[in-house]
Amino acid sequence: MKQHDAMYIDGSWRPAEGRGTIEVVNPADGQVIATVPAGSAEDVDAAVRAARAALPGWAATPPQERAARLAALRDQLVARADEIAATVTAELGAPLAFSKAVHAGAPIAVCGSYAELAGTYAFEEKIGNSTVLHEPVGVVGAITPWNYPLHQVVAKVAPALAAGCTVVLKPAEDTPLVAQLFAECVDAAGIPAGVFNLVTGLGPVAGQALAAHDGIDLVSFTGSTAVGRKIGALAGAAVKRVALELGGKSANVILPSADLAKAVAVGVANVMANSGQTCSAWTRMLVHRDRYDEAVELAAAAAAKYVPGEKIGPLVNATQQARVRGYIERGVAEGARLVAGGPEEPLAAGCYVRPTVFADVTPEMTIAQEEIFGPVLSILAYEDEDDAARIANGTVYGLAGAVWAGDEAEAVAFARRLETGQVDINGGRFNPLAPFGGYKQSGVGRELGRHGLTEYLQTKSLQF
Ligand code: NAP
Ligand code: MG
Repeated sequence: MKQHDAMYIDGSWRPAEGRGTIEVVNPADGQVIATVPAGSAEDVDAAVRAARAALPGWAATPPQERAARLAALRDQLVARADEIAATVTAELGAPLAFSKAVHAGAPIAVCGSYAELAGTYAFEEKIGNSTVLHEPVGVVGAITPWNYPLHQVVAKVAPALAAGCTVVLKPAEDTPLVAQLFAECVDAAGIPAGVFNLVTGLGPVAGQALAAHDGIDLVSFTGSTAVGRKIGALAGAAVKRVALELGGKSANVILPSADLAKAVAVGVANVMANSGQTCSAWTRMLVHRDRYDEAVELAAAAAAKYVPGEKIGPLVNATQQARVRGYIERGVAEGARLVAGGPEEPLAAGCYVRPTVFADVTPEMTIAQEEIFGPVLSILAYEDEDDAARIANGTVYGLAGAVWAGDEAEAVAFARRLETGQVDINGGRFNPLAPFGGYKQSGVGRELGRHGLTEYLQTKSLQF
């Protein structure tokens, strides 16, 4: 595994001002696999200065040329896909096949989509006697989590660069190695010095310094609601733009006319993917009272196939493992019925949690309200469609969801009633061009596709 004992600032790897270091641990076996520098406020400041200095040149670069650099970046990601997958597997613990398909595959698709959009987007439009210019917002501070470590980086950096913004990235402390690999790809793609800068470090130090820096025009954050709240408050006080992609507690609503076996199988797979560490995971399954027992049986059998260490990886670290096990204990204590898994550790070593399914979950239980961020599914019964809609909408979150029905129109009619940013109809496929983001406390703003690009643009109207 390649590693840099340095920060990528202004087009080169330079030693950190901060003296601290971060140990990167493989959660599958607890081994320390690398050490990276823990950036200080001085490192953040150096990176922001570099990004500011590079801004006028990059903002004035013709969109076609920005598109060409993004296409070169995509090609770098393609060329190094195996290395990306191996790195994410080492620092996050994801099974290698999943790392290849998703952790390496999704960023390639998203980067490619912005290479295309940068070249085709109308950065100028006519409205009556006005010409409206869509100009870059400026310098972007990007703060990303560890759960889809490269995807979340690319979902911010690619549209920012396409828009003509420059970027300082503070990746999660648990997954800095794939961020360093990404910086190498940026460098090899011929993106000018200072346009992209990387500061590894701790959230409350480097992340906080970045979010609070005067030289940042927009903060784009993905992570917990608790930290998102703080970042939103800082941005509000400074009157700067902010985008927040936060948690979720998404509902998988299976209507009575649905193909139950398929809906349950896909629903369980959705929750177990990435060891349940997915903000958009359908962690609540809503089933009609008449088909409830059948659904519980199918879900328990499906979950049992996720053998820890084989089909499902560990959680990212011991803190998350303890947190998720605590939620499972809480579910039992509040009276939910365990039908698969449980709080016991499945393996002697590594941060594993047993794939867990709870039945007889009621809407007010903690496990039906809070984001667990682990392989834990709660199954709730509903009486009729109104009841299902009320339960589905009955959390502070609204990021994603699913609806299953015998015919598409019925599912779509129900999807219109959901207070959420994305709904998959009868198992619809992931679309890297569709806007992704939250209603309610799941966030502010949208990522991906043209909606993700406009987050990084501001308008200037010229009247004639
Ligand atoms: P987190 O603390 O919100 O981490 C997200 C990012 O924010 C990381 O880069 C983190 O740095 C940084 N950060 C932390 N405190 C900060 C601060 N005061 N100012 C600026 N940046 C700061 O999330 P976590 O602790 O890793 O995970 C906890 C829970 O958050 C999970 O159980 C899950 O519920 C939720 N979560 C949601 C998502 C999502 O995609 N919506 C992703 C991850 C986690 P460090 O890495 O150094 O902490
Ligand atoms: Mg944290």
